[in-house]
Amino acid sequence: MNKYDAFLIKYAEIGIKGKNRHIFEEALVRQIRIALRPCQGSFNVIRTYGRVFVEAKSDYDFEEVTEALSHVFGIWGICPVAEYDLMPLEQLCETAADFIKSEYPDGGSSATAYTFKVRTRRMNKEYPQDSLVINAEVGHAVLEACPNMSVDVHKPEITFSIEVREKIYLYSQVIPGPGGLPVGVGGKCMLLLSGGIDSPVAGYMVAKRGVRIDAVYFNAPPYTSERALQKVIDLAREISVYTGPIRLHNINFTEIQLYIYEQCPHDELTIIMRRYMMRIAERIARENECLGLITGESIGQVASQTLAALAVTNEVCTLPVFRPLIGFDKEEIVQVSKKIGTYETSILPYEDCCTIFVAKHPVTKPKADVIRKHEHYLDEKIDEMVERALETDEIINVSNYRPREEC
Ligand code: ATP
Ligand code: MG
Repeated sequence: MNKYDAFLIKYAEIGIKGKNRHIFEEALVRQIRIALRPCQGSFNVIRTYGRVFVEAKSDYDFEEVTEALSHVFGIWGICPVAEYDLMPLEQLCETAADFIKSEYPDGGSSATAYTFKVRTRRMNKEYPQDSLVINAEVGHAVLEACPNMSVDVHKPEITFSIEVREKIYLYSQVIPGPGGLPVGVGGKCMLLLSGGIDSPVAGYMVAKRGVRIDAVYFNAPPYTSERALQKVIDLAREISVYTGPIRLHNINFTEIQLYIYEQCPHDELTIIMRRYMMRIAERIARENECLGLITGESIGQVASQTLAALAVTNEVCTLPVFRPLIGFDKEEIVQVSKKIGTYETSILPYEDCCTIFVAKHPVTKPKADVIRKHEHYLDEKIDEMVERALETDEIINVSNYRPREEC
């Protein structure tokens, strides 16, 4: 059997949400269950006494479980816990000292002299001794068992926690979680997901604030290959480790792109194309109860992302457009993409639809009235093309969960 029977989940921000607290806790429990699905073993995820516990019902892989939990937004810390039946204080002291020795096997040596404190929460008021007495007695026992440890109640290196309920729980480690809010408490947004570095990071950042993510990809076969689509699916799967399952809308954009290419000035291609992407994304977003759009844009990164270009792109939608990377340098975005594990996929070379139809000298200061005027060159066919593009919508359900046989 594993050393730890359960994991106590600590959450920071969501603890302070007053009357809405249960909504946050329920979302957290749901997201933890989703995150644990691919893991070996079975688990009970429960809320009790204002805490969330992950109880192991069978053998499990410690690294795999802590890794999965460390991707769940809303978690501040993951504490591996040993669980015991109620026992008298004398026996508790012995058990606690053994637990600490096994947690810090080097703690008895002079080279590693930790400071510690004991912190007891006694929810079970029938337990005969109160928390102060338990702290003191267990503290003594630990000092005796680990002579090189010493007590520091103000700034201890180790906080040894004891929770007394209908069972007794011991823990001393806190593995950091990602913070943020549990996905699902903040509504849903539509992410414009391309195969690049930026948009997966943008999706990750908004999801971190508790927002569920759907995604749309504008595909341009045969100018883009099957592998370009597969790359986007892979990116969606990689961020789904954080966001939970994603419904990815794959839209065939070829006809619209070719038509813009035929009819409009080439230095305005990108901007007009981006306006049609936003319009279509907004339609799909509204049909799917999304409250906003998300893009990976950042001011000045490329010609289509100057302030003037962003303003002209923006004017075609009424839903709010969230651009969480707006003030980030490319290098900062790369750092996040490496951290969340999308970078290697993002830099694979397969073309996305924009790179094929780019002009040599795109406008950097587009004027809305000029762009609107040139969009009229599309009047004859564009509406029906947009409808046709919407009809091509292929929904791909992406999640980090694959049935075990496929793993
Ligand atoms: P990324 O690295 O996210 O591809 P980028 O630096 O290549 O961004 P652009 O190509 O100008 O920048 O795209 C800006 C944003 O527009 C992207 O971050 C993404 O949100 C959206 N976008 C671009 N191309 C597509 C596409 N083919 N399908 C869906 N969204 C797209
Ligand atoms: Mg791109």
